[in-house]
Amino acid sequence: MDERIISSKETLDDLAVTSALRPQTLDDYIGQPQLKENLRTALAAARGRGESLDHVLLYGPPGLGKTTLAHIVANEMGVELVTSSGPALERAGDLVGILTNLKPGSVFFIDEIHRLPRIVEEYLYSAMEDFSVDFMIDKGAFAKSIKLPVAPFTLVGATTRAGKLSAPLRERFGLFYHLDFYPDDELVKIVTRSAHILGVPTEPDGAMEIARRSRGTPRIANRLLRRVRDFAQVKADGVITREVADIALTALGVDGRGLDELDRKLLRTIIDFYQGGPVGVEALAATLNEESDTLVDMVEPFLLKIGYLSRTPSGRKTTPLAYQHFGLQPGQSTLPGQGNLFTE
Ligand code: ADP
Repeated sequence: MDERIISSKETLDDLAVTSALRPQTLDDYIGQPQLKENLRTALAAARGRGESLDHVLLYGPPGLGKTTLAHIVANEMGVELVTSSGPALERAGDLVGILTNLKPGSVFFIDEIHRLPRIVEEYLYSAMEDFSVDFMIDKGAFAKSIKLPVAPFTLVGATTRAGKLSAPLRERFGLFYHLDFYPDDELVKIVTRSAHILGVPTEPDGAMEIARRSRGTPRIANRLLRRVRDFAQVKADGVITREVADIALTALGVDGRGLDELDRKLLRTIIDFYQGGPVGVEALAATLNEESDTLVDMVEPFLLKIGYLSRTPSGRKTTPLAYQHFGLQPGQSTLPGQGNLFTE
């Protein structure tokens, strides 16, 4: 799963260029116009009052720019950024250690905040609200609680699913921003900007081809750009044209709509084994031998967005568009001997 070329999850290979490609200011951040506008106003108001920004919750699928926004908030406020993640903050002591060492005004970014263990999460409540934490020291008969001060700070939490956050935590955020998949014209700008930074000659049609096949996700656009660059360097004359992008992406198993093998496997499983659905996500995950969270966070959102999949109270269903993708009529199967028109 992690080797998926179009996985929206960050890989080690991505990390190598992340800081070079990451926009540093709100002006450099491409797309999400409404979000940018609202955030710009909130930042200006906080700066005007000489206060730190209200706590921010960013939610949306992986790879859409949540971490980047946390960096931008810190940059725009001219303050230090401290980063961590829900799974990394295993013990309350880890969190309290970070909170009590924050400098005044700091931005504290917690990625995958919905994965914070509940007992750790509870320490955030008073830190967010009153800028203090009650920490238990010692155990048993000697246990006592001490109140530790926390400098005023801004918590930026990122999550793929806002609904997974507990109500007490959600209520303590003042600003909520939803990130949606990027349209092709914005992804073209992102690919063009990244190609410029990486020094890769790219024709507009080449950038468009990469953008169209990036599942609406900047992280994937940047990754596909790097893979196409390798191909252009070794097999063409170094320039990314539409044709070079097409050949390279097809060779990598990314089809014309940006779907990869796992997307196609998911759709074909519903079509072939569940007659188009509805099928529950757990049953689907078991058939595909994948974690259901992986399907829900990384695979389904884009298929829902492009209308290949629909979610009903009784489970997931494939739509006529999904059948069309495989050259099938609704109700047909991709399996041989069952009216197979599957041509890929
Ligand atoms: P998330 O935290 O939502 O998973 P990131 O902030 O790590 O996503 O973004 C992934 C990569 O995509 C970043 O390295 C950044 O270079 C690029 N990126 C994300 N959003 C934008 C944007 N709006 N404009 C330009 N590049 C972006």
